[in-house]
Parts: sequence; C-alpha cells; structure tokens
Amino acid sequence: MANYDYIIIGAGAAGLMLADAILKDSFFDNKSILLLDKDAKQTNDRTWCFWEKGEGQFDSLIYKSWNHVYFAGKKFSKRYAIKPYTYKMIRGIDFYNSIFQKIEASSNITFKNVEVTAIEDNGQNVVVSSEGQTFLGQQAFNSIFDYTMATHQQKYPVLQQHFIGWVVKTDEPIFDIDQATYMDFSIEQKGNTRFMYVLPYAADRALIECTLFSEDLLQKEEYEIAIKSYLANNLSTTHFEIEETEMGSIPMTCYDFQEHHTQNIRYIGTAGGWAKPSTGYTFASTARKIPVLIEHIKTKKPLHELSFKNRFWFYDLLFLDVLHKDNAHGYRIFENLFKNRSPQLIFKFLDEQTSVWEDVKYIWGCPKIPFIKALFRYLF
Ligand SMILES: Cc1cc2nc3c(=O)[nH]c(=O)nc-3n(C[C@H](O)[C@H](O)[C@H](O)COP(=O)(O)OP(=O)(O)OC[C@H]3O[C@@H](n4cnc5c(N)ncnc54)[C@H](O)[C@@H]3O)c2cc1C
Repeated sequence: MANYDYIIIGAGAAGLMLADAILKDSFFDNKSILLLDKDAKQTNDRTWCFWEKGEGQFDSLIYKSWNHVYFAGKKFSKRYAIKPYTYKMIRGIDFYNSIFQKIEASSNITFKNVEVTAIEDNGQNVVVSSEGQTFLGQQAFNSIFDYTMATHQQKYPVLQQHFIGWVVKTDEPIFDIDQATYMDFSIEQKGNTRFMYVLPYAADRALIECTLFSEDLLQKEEYEIAIKSYLANNLSTTHFEIEETEMGSIPMTCYDFQEHHTQNIRYIGTAGGWAKPSTGYTFASTARKIPVLIEHIKTKKPLHELSFKNRFWFYDLLFLDVLHKDNAHGYRIFENLFKNRSPQLIFKFLDEQTSVWEDVKYIWGCPKIPFIKALFRYLF
C-alpha cells in the first residue's frame, strides 16, 4: 500500500491552493504528498470572481477585471466606482494549468487521476480507497462535497446560490467593459430571490448568469429563458451566439461542517463549509483560510481542532433566516443595502474585515423589521 505524509483529495480550488501553499513552504520539503482527482482538470469548467484591494496573489492569472459595479433593484439602480477594490476574474483552466505546472516540476507532490470511493481515519492514519487501489496517509484533506453533508440536519436552512451562465458574443458592442453587473434584480422574481449577473469581457462579449438564492433548483430551460429575455429586454439584443456555458450550485448555510472533520481528516473548500453562507463566494474565502490551515498542520494538532467560526457566522445566520422565511422579497435586503451603504463597506463586511462599529453600520443599512424578527426567532 502506497504511503504518504499527506493526501489531498480533489484538485479543485481548495485542493490546488493547498498544494500550492505546501510547495511554497519549506516545512513540507521532505514530506510526500499525494493529490487525487477523478477529473484531469483540463477543461475550463468554471470562472471565479472576487473583489480585492490593490494587488493580489492571483494577479498573474486575472482574465478580466473591472473598476465599477452596477446594482439594480426594483426602484433603485446605480453604477459605482469601487476603488480601492477591483472586481477580478480568473478562468478555472488558467488556475489549474498554473498550479499543475508547479506540481509537475516538484519532487514531493504526486498527482493521480483516480476516483476516490472511501476515506477512513483509523486513529493512526487515513486509508483512502479508489477502485483497485488503496493509499495510506498520515493526514488527508478532502474537498469532495455532497449536499447531504449539510442537508442531513434540520437546524440550519440550506439555501443554494444556483445559476446557469452563457458567454455570449453579440453582433453589436453593447457592454460597458469597465463595469460588472453585480446584481440586477429588475427581472421577475417569481417567488424567489433572482438576479442577473453580467461580466463583460469585451464590448461585444460577456458572461451572463441567471442566479437565484433559493432552496430548490429550477429546470434548465427556466434559467435559459431568463437569460434570453434579459438580453432582449434589458440589453436590447436578440442577435448573439452562445460561446460557452457554465452552471453551478453553491451551498448557502450556517450549518457547521465541523462535525465531519476528524483527528486526521480535514474537509476543505465547499466541503469544509468555506462557502460564505450569505453569498456563496468561496474562492477568496478559501485563499484566506489556506494559510491558517497550513500553520495548523505545522503545529501537528488534531485537524478537527481548527475552527473558523467568528461573529460573522451569526450575521450570516440572521441573513439566511430572513432570506429563507421570505425568499420572494430577498431583493429588498440588497436594494436597501446598496441604497444606504457604499459597495466598499459591503465588500469589507462580506470579507469579514469590518470593525464592530462598521458591522452595526452595515446591519443598520438592511431592512430592520425582518432582521429584528430573525433575531427574536433565534433568541427565543
Ligand atoms: C460554475 C461555478 C462558478 C463559480 N464561481 C464562483 C465565483 O465567481 N466566485 C467564488 O468565490 N466562488 C465561485 N464558485 C464557488 C466555488 O468557488 C467553487 O465551487 C470552487 O471550485 C470550490 O472549490 P472546492 O475545491 O471546494 O471544490 P472544487 O473546485 O469543485 O474541487 C473539488 C474537486 O474534487 C473532485 N472530486 C469530486 N469527487 C471526487 C471523487 N470521488 N474522487 C476524486 N476527486 C473527486 C472534483 O473533480 C473537483 O476537482 C463557483 C462554482 C461553480 C460551480
């Protein structure tokens, strides 16, 4: 049975960020690491966006960035300059290629393209099985996510940020290339929190996503009809080609994934509960957690002892309660926020970097009655 110090399961955002951090840290120079994924990671299966102040660690991979965001509610819309932030986009394939290049050049990380079927912590080490092969690791980091990890419980609602996106090439130059449409709620809500998200790559090319924050997925056609009608009604075009498509569903829940970790197995990425419950944004949140995990690994303490829970968990809990109880009017929260507060404060709060005073200011910008009701529901 092949034996390793660490086994990383899943070569997606979290697994590769962990592998990259390991390669950059001399503590791991003499360690053997196995990276497993059922996929060869050779397709552009997603794009990641995040906001950031100034320069960042992924800048060499940025495909497009924007200095303005646009928000539209039902009664209010505005284009904002977001300086000192920039809204940045990375294509999955560029990220995979860049980290795999480093892994191939390294002597201590081995990649195997296999599907993992079982993982077991026997107290001493971790046994990872795939069809016909078994690997032994001192510790394992697992990014295989399955919704039942969160939905097996009833205490915390599990909403999803779900979407289908099309990269369209239009006949006419219709997009503002320095503006990302962060949320456009002017579309029909149909009993849910629904918005359009537009990321222009050029004046005639953009990724347009029909996105929902709700409990259940829609039929594929429903997202597609919404994108077509947005192109026709909001962007005045019926002449376009679909160049690429993407779809996704990201959990939005305050359920604490902590119970899945063991002494020698740590869940990471979406499977570790690293998707921000109130937004679904996971990429930047993962990048912030990896260095903390690396330091924890170096202490040799049990992996389940590391917790990322902070006061923002409680804010997210109230937010998700409001969104869950009245999903049809979720747009009102965002409309109030963007009307009353700057995107800079919103981004800082969502990055969990605000002071308590700034938290109060942010929360006071939300519709008050639903949040006070949610607080009472929680307390009593
Ligand atoms: C289309 C899409 C767009 C997104 N856009 C954004 C965004 O703009 N900003 C943002 O912050 N977040 C975004 N997200 C959310 C989140 O950032 C991504 O899902 C991110 O990839 C999560 O990283 P991860 O490592 O947890 O999971 P993944 O990147 O999905 O990696 C998990 C890996 O595990 C592998 N795997 C699964 N099962 C097995 C198995 N049995 N054996 C071996 N390997 C297995 C998979 O092949 C995969 O490579 C998006 C998600 C999707 C789906």
